[in-house]
Amino acid sequence: MGRKTPFVEPNTDKETSMSTIVNEVLAANQAYVSSFGDKGKLPMPPGRRFAILTCMDARLDPAKYAGLAEGDAHVIRNAGGRASDDAIRSLVISYKLLGTREWFVVHHTDCGMETFTDDVMRKLLRSSLKTASVDASGWHDAGGGGGSPECEHISWLTIPNQEQSVLEDVQRIRSHPLVPGEIPIYGYIYDVKSGKLIEVPAATAAGKPFHAEMRAMAA
Ligand code: ZN
Repeated sequence: MGRKTPFVEPNTDKETSMSTIVNEVLAANQAYVSSFGDKGKLPMPPGRRFAILTCMDARLDPAKYAGLAEGDAHVIRNAGGRASDDAIRSLVISYKLLGTREWFVVHHTDCGMETFTDDVMRKLLRSSLKTASVDASGWHDAGGGGGSPECEHISWLTIPNQEQSVLEDVQRIRSHPLVPGEIPIYGYIYDVKSGKLIEVPAATAAGKPFHAEMRAMAA
């Protein structure tokens, strides 16, 4: 497993720990299967007809923080919970084909996306593909070469300010021509210290539903 290059750390535990994870995942899955019950009969459309766009951060568990069971809702995750083109693609499929009627954008405190800029990420990736380290003075690449300028072609959608990023993402979704006006979009920040969802009132206000005839009247 893995490419052997002079730049691979001499970590003899690496393959062992990878297979340990696989074994743990498969054991957990076996336990899940044994108590799966009648969930095999769930229909594809989410039963509670809503969707959450949120960050991939390992501390966030949308099923727990929002009280979801299998079959309840769509959860779309990426780094930051940003309204990227691909997140919007999923949201459009979510209502158009699978009937969701309300959407949440949930960013969170202490997000990794607050710790760098496009510039920082591009410098790191141009330098090498190894995992970078971070300290009080910022991110540092491990060096060793092998980076790629491909990093210039990705907008990393970093977050200078959480309230602002929630607002911007709600606004972007709200104003998207493929998103119908009657879907309310709510903006929240999840507090990693308490587990609490804190509303961003300006975002929820920006995500308020409107009807097509109102838009026509306003025009
Ligand atoms: Zn995050």
